Amino acid sequence: MSFDLLLKNAVLPDGRPADIGCAGGRILAVEPRLEAEAGQVIDAGGRLVAPPFVDVHFHMDATLSLGLPRLNQSGTLLEGIALWGELKPILTQEAVIERALRYCDLAVSQGLLAIRSHVDVCDDRLLAVEALLEVKAKVRDYIDLQLVAFPQDGYFRSPGAAANLLRALDLGVDVVGGIPHFERTMADGAASLRALCEIAAARGLQVDIHCDESDDPLSRHIEALAYETQRLGLHGRVAGSHLTSMHSMDNYYAAKLIPLIAEAGVHAIANPLINITLQGRADTYPKRRGQTRVPELRAAGVNVAFGHDCVMDPWYSLGSGDMLDVAHMGLHVGQMTSREAMRWCFEAVTTNPARIMGLEGYGLAPGCNADFVVLQAADPIEAIRLKAARLFVVRRGRVIAESAPRLARLALPGRPAQVDAAAYAPATA
Ligand SMILES: [Zn+2]
Repeated sequence: MSFDLLLKNAVLPDGRPADIGCAGGRILAVEPRLEAEAGQVIDAGGRLVAPPFVDVHFHMDATLSLGLPRLNQSGTLLEGIALWGELKPILTQEAVIERALRYCDLAVSQGLLAIRSHVDVCDDRLLAVEALLEVKAKVRDYIDLQLVAFPQDGYFRSPGAAANLLRALDLGVDVVGGIPHFERTMADGAASLRALCEIAAARGLQVDIHCDESDDPLSRHIEALAYETQRLGLHGRVAGSHLTSMHSMDNYYAAKLIPLIAEAGVHAIANPLINITLQGRADTYPKRRGQTRVPELRAAGVNVAFGHDCVMDPWYSLGSGDMLDVAHMGLHVGQMTSREAMRWCFEAVTTNPARIMGLEGYGLAPGCNADFVVLQAADPIEAIRLKAARLFVVRRGRVIAESAPRLARLALPGRPAQVDAAAYAPATA
């Protein structure tokens, strides 16, 4: 057998040692030891190889706009939405495209090769929709970009939103979005979910709703979303994003709700960096965290992913396209500190969101796309702990990004000359 690319001495996320042979853009063989001719050989040096990172919740029309036209002073979700409203009329297609492409460069350097981005459809010009459709076509060889038609100002509350959403879908946007907690009443929110799920059912599309992104313990849109999913037979095609109100819900009600979400096959997407900074803003002390009930949803069999949501935009000033940063925060806020739960947090930024996006050929088995990342870490836990360097990022069997290992030189008498943070293994794996 001969390969285009042979990765030697790697360790899979489940701990098995593996050589990976690729040809024609696909993985042909995954074996503990492969001896074969190859156009290119990479020695992973006993380090972790993982499928690419996946961000299933992002806003690429707003990314890298930090400071335009001003900064978010209060730091709240609502000022962020108002600020985005000020920015929208002065957006140009060229600027949106340029910022999105720059973000995609950053994403690739971080091994992030699949992104589901919401795109605001409340601007009648649909300027951002057209811009991101162009970006999607431009990056298709290296990033799977899926777009969600997102009525930021409300499907009913914003006058043109309903018509614009259909126009966006007609133009090629992939997924139906919504924001029921931003409608004028709970009843309007529920009605918006009914309408949006019916559009998805009629068109054979997926649904991804900004759902209950508030600290209101009585917000019930996720219940309505699970109900509509059941009613229309959309199992596995619907995601509830944020679900932060679940953090504040009465425990008895949450115990009834979570099995309903599981039964409907609704996916859950938490956005740890954003939830921990935007929620609980009206609290004094104690301040609520606002992240949805990740361990409990997971225990009930719900597929849960972590999304990045924002990078340097009206809602969040930080972020770097690093899904390990996201997993690190999700782990902390969810107090998911067992070895098993920490390993799961790595899945929450790789395999779980890949399932939500329905990515074909994703994974490290023979027959999958030859897409993977070699990290400066021995295992997924160490990758999260260190937000490990992406030594090699491979797409369809070709290296598309490389980073040098992070090593610090020491100048201490009697101590080693350099420190490799990835060389500090625990006594028990
Ligand atoms: Zn969002």
